[in-house]
Amino acid sequence: NKTSSSNFIKNIVEADLKSGKVSEIVTRFPPEPNGYLHIGHAKSICLNFELADEYKGRTNLRFDDTNPVKEDTEYVNAIQEDVRWLGFEWDELRFASDYFEEMYERAVLLIKKGKAYVCDLSAEQIRETRGTLTEPGKNSPFRDRSVEENLDLFARMRAGEFKDGERVLRAKIDMASPNINLRDPVLYRIAHAHHHRTGDAWCIYPMYDYAHPLGDAIEGVTHSICTLEFEDHRPLYDWAIQECEMESTPHQYEFARLNVTNTIMSKRYLKSLVDEGVVDGWDDPRMPTVSGLRRKGFTAEAIRAFCREIGVARAYSVVDERMLEHFIREDLKLKALRTMAVLQPLKVVITNYPEGQVEMLEAENNAENEEMGTRQIPFSREIYIERDDFMENPPAKYFRLFPGNEVRLKHAYFITCQEVIKDADGNVTELRCTYDPETKSGSGFTGRKVKGTIHWVEASQAIKAEFRLFEPLLVDGDNDDRPFLERLNPNSLEVLEGFVEPNMKDAQGQDKFQFFRHGYFNVDPKLSGEGGIVFNRIVSLKSSFDP
Ligand code: ATP
Ligand code: MG
Ligand code: MG
Repeated sequence: NKTSSSNFIKNIVEADLKSGKVSEIVTRFPPEPNGYLHIGHAKSICLNFELADEYKGRTNLRFDDTNPVKEDTEYVNAIQEDVRWLGFEWDELRFASDYFEEMYERAVLLIKKGKAYVCDLSAEQIRETRGTLTEPGKNSPFRDRSVEENLDLFARMRAGEFKDGERVLRAKIDMASPNINLRDPVLYRIAHAHHHRTGDAWCIYPMYDYAHPLGDAIEGVTHSICTLEFEDHRPLYDWAIQECEMESTPHQYEFARLNVTNTIMSKRYLKSLVDEGVVDGWDDPRMPTVSGLRRKGFTAEAIRAFCREIGVARAYSVVDERMLEHFIREDLKLKALRTMAVLQPLKVVITNYPEGQVEMLEAENNAENEEMGTRQIPFSREIYIERDDFMENPPAKYFRLFPGNEVRLKHAYFITCQEVIKDADGNVTELRCTYDPETKSGSGFTGRKVKGTIHWVEASQAIKAEFRLFEPLLVDGDNDDRPFLERLNPNSLEVLEGFVEPNMKDAQGQDKFQFFRHGYFNVDPKLSGEGGIVFNRIVSLKSSFDP
């Protein structure tokens, strides 16, 4: 089932189509190219594209590039790549900057209608005279400038005669409005900044609250979906469309933004992690960015399934991060090759196994999906097991390896620990075990049972690998006011050096595996190469969480 269940926006869309208010649904995804997309944006992308898909409409990708100082072509490209990777194709690729000329002309229209004026107050003075929730604002001394003077000043603003911040264009609405957004909001500001697309053609830039409704109307967007913070801006959205005499009338609808436990999503914060070198770029696997999740090993299918499951509502909520993990496990369960990897190796010598002999054993590729077939894995006198799978002095109910105990080697034989070898400091460096040839996996041996099964890799052919295990970047704490750099989790990245089966030698970047008992891993596309394979843990095998 590709379509999500009903939600309030779908109800509106259905009613609008039925009543003939619109003949076709047009939505847009409007990122500002000032950073990489995160999982919250993914929710908005899925919502906009899937809504249009379901009702046979279309969706534009529109870059809201009205703030040149923070924007960059790098982000424009990364955002397109991420939207495509998520599985969506836009109808048209647009930029708010495509509309700068038309927006300017509509602003001139506002001035001519007496609906906008050039104001010489500083940003601070504008803030100070805006009033509060309980007190009305004060009219600007420049509010009653003549149309001629406004036209002249606005043209000179465009021509570059004034410095940044010297003047703005403001809407003339109502300084006593109970809605502060309607107290003569700024429509244009001066910024002598190079724009990544328009270069130095402009030194005045429209504000979001002016550019967004006009962009929507120019593109014929019918349903302009945004997050709840913009609910109070809606009257201004409608004002701009009406007063600018736009031919088409889009409507704004708000939904609750996605919040995830242990996850900060604001681009400003994510950018500072990148700028401070706390992470290895925007696509660091610990980042909640689409590119970070991809590099960690998340699939687009899992992210889309997650977005569908969380749904669209108007009520504020925080989604448990384990929900996202649930969907990647579900997606990979039947797809991922299940192999063995030893993350913290301990050498085991099987003393009664013939020296120099290597035999091949058959192993199923996915116990839950027979269609994935089997593979051959080598077995010999020397193998590696997981350091954690041995204890010299085990507690009760420890069923793995300890002196004198017998365990099953997955896909191989039973072995019994006979001797523990230590270095001068008393650290265990090697185990000497014996195996029982009768107990070969698949032979139907029923002579006796063992309680523990452990994984292993054959030593002479094992491939060295690095494993990267992750924890959240921030130590959570909603009431924690410390700057985030002080709240960083020192254990967010753990790097281990171990071994994988020899058949993994051809593993490519982004290949995904389930390592027996360790969870799902992805081949890191950036770090793997000549030096060896690097695996990112996507998620461990189990969680107590079931949505
Ligand atoms: P941030 O505050 O993280 O920088 P933003 O809203 O400023 O995000 P934009 O590039 O303006 O980033 O967002 C593009 C679209 O994505 C907007 O329509 C916005 O509403 C939506 N969006 C951003 N964050 C979320 C979120 N957490 N949940 C749902 N939608 C989101
Ligand atoms: Mg924004
Ligand atoms: Mg932002």
